[in-house]
Amino acid sequence: MKYYNVSNPSEKVDFKNVVMQSSNKNNGLYLPEHIPVLDTTFLKNINKHSFAEISFQVAKAILGADMPHSALQKTIDEALNFPIHLKNIHDDNYVLELFHGPTMAFKDVGARFMSGLVSYFIQSETDEINILVATSGDTGSAVAAAFLNKPGIKVTILYPSGRVSYLQEQQLTTMGNNITALEIDGSFDDCQSMVKSAFADIDLSKKLKLTSANSINFARLFPQSFYYFYAYSQIKNNKLPLVFSVPSGNFGNLTAGIIAQKMGLPIWRFVAATNKNNVIPEYLQTQKYNPMPSVATISSAMDVGNPSNFERINALYNHNFSEIKNNITGYAFSDFETCKAIKTALQKHKYLLEPHGAVAYLGISRYLEKHKCCSVFFETAHPAKFSDVLQSALNIDVPVPEELKHYLGKKKRSIKMSADFEQLKEYLLSSN
Ligand SMILES: *Cc1c(COP(=O)(O)O)cnc(C)c1O
Repeated sequence: MKYYNVSNPSEKVDFKNVVMQSSNKNNGLYLPEHIPVLDTTFLKNINKHSFAEISFQVAKAILGADMPHSALQKTIDEALNFPIHLKNIHDDNYVLELFHGPTMAFKDVGARFMSGLVSYFIQSETDEINILVATSGDTGSAVAAAFLNKPGIKVTILYPSGRVSYLQEQQLTTMGNNITALEIDGSFDDCQSMVKSAFADIDLSKKLKLTSANSINFARLFPQSFYYFYAYSQIKNNKLPLVFSVPSGNFGNLTAGIIAQKMGLPIWRFVAATNKNNVIPEYLQTQKYNPMPSVATISSAMDVGNPSNFERINALYNHNFSEIKNNITGYAFSDFETCKAIKTALQKHKYLLEPHGAVAYLGISRYLEKHKCCSVFFETAHPAKFSDVLQSALNIDVPVPEELKHYLGKKKRSIKMSADFEQLKEYLLSSN
């Protein structure tokens, strides 16, 4: 299948180019030319399948012509080898726990899947690949863990100094080997715009093979649609309309849900839940898209002032505002409300949320005030990753789980840099 660039629809490339982003013009926001609808018998019997089986069927429908099925199967078996749990919170309201992967954030799903694809496509390459990634915390660690020690691949992570949690920083800066962390004196938006400038830079693209592991890259975004199908498989017999509440920053996760919907999954509506960085909820109110500098919040992985998947959402709904409004409801919440929600969920439902999941919980709670539905909200990280917030704001102690313990106390290695693209360019040219 061909992929088109949503910023420049006449630019069409093969799937391999999408993964490797050898063409990086116009930000590389690719989408498949057409999205196949899944067989209705598959959806009817979906509850008889495991998460890996569901993922394979969904992946095969889109990627099946571009990769041998055996390679796709191998990628799925290796990447998605951890559980995803759906738990009931109350009545017809569920939480989907997406944080049981190796770095304990949902970004493991996309990063590990993409790593499998890059490893497959790199076999026919002679040059080393440079993966450049901007992170607000979780992407960097998931990508680093997924690509650690992979032959022919170098990973450079840009993260905003002082704006990631202690555990996240330990994960980003202690892996070493083919992973380098650049500590940027700026915000996540600065990191993201430095990465975008690098992709647009002609000197760099002449000398290096650069690719993105942010949700700009369709190979990282698309596997996130698998768990929407999986959640549905668990609650398929519920006859109420199905609503997903997605804690959103760059809107890769929500965009993956729209793809699932286009593939035939009966999703009634999405709740786009954000923190104070409310560009999309504002857009849904006013039809005006006003990107803004991000502000720091306790749900820091969602501190995004110019969500890179906005254009994809538009393209998927045919640039039709009423279609977008009919499918997405947006709500934004303050840190104060988020803290209160964490307390409420613990008291009422004996469920410990972390700040991102709490925003999604707030989103669905507001939606349920006026609508009856079967709902699933996403818990995107393990509470221990945000133990500093939970401790200081709420006095809740979260023990560090085994998976994260080995990052504690290790020596941090980062290269400090100001939020200046020229410095990044110089660094990339001199270190490669
Ligand atoms: C990245 C991240 C989000 C936001 O996901 P997007 O796909 O960027 O909208 C939410 N929660 C956590 C914990 C994250 O790491």
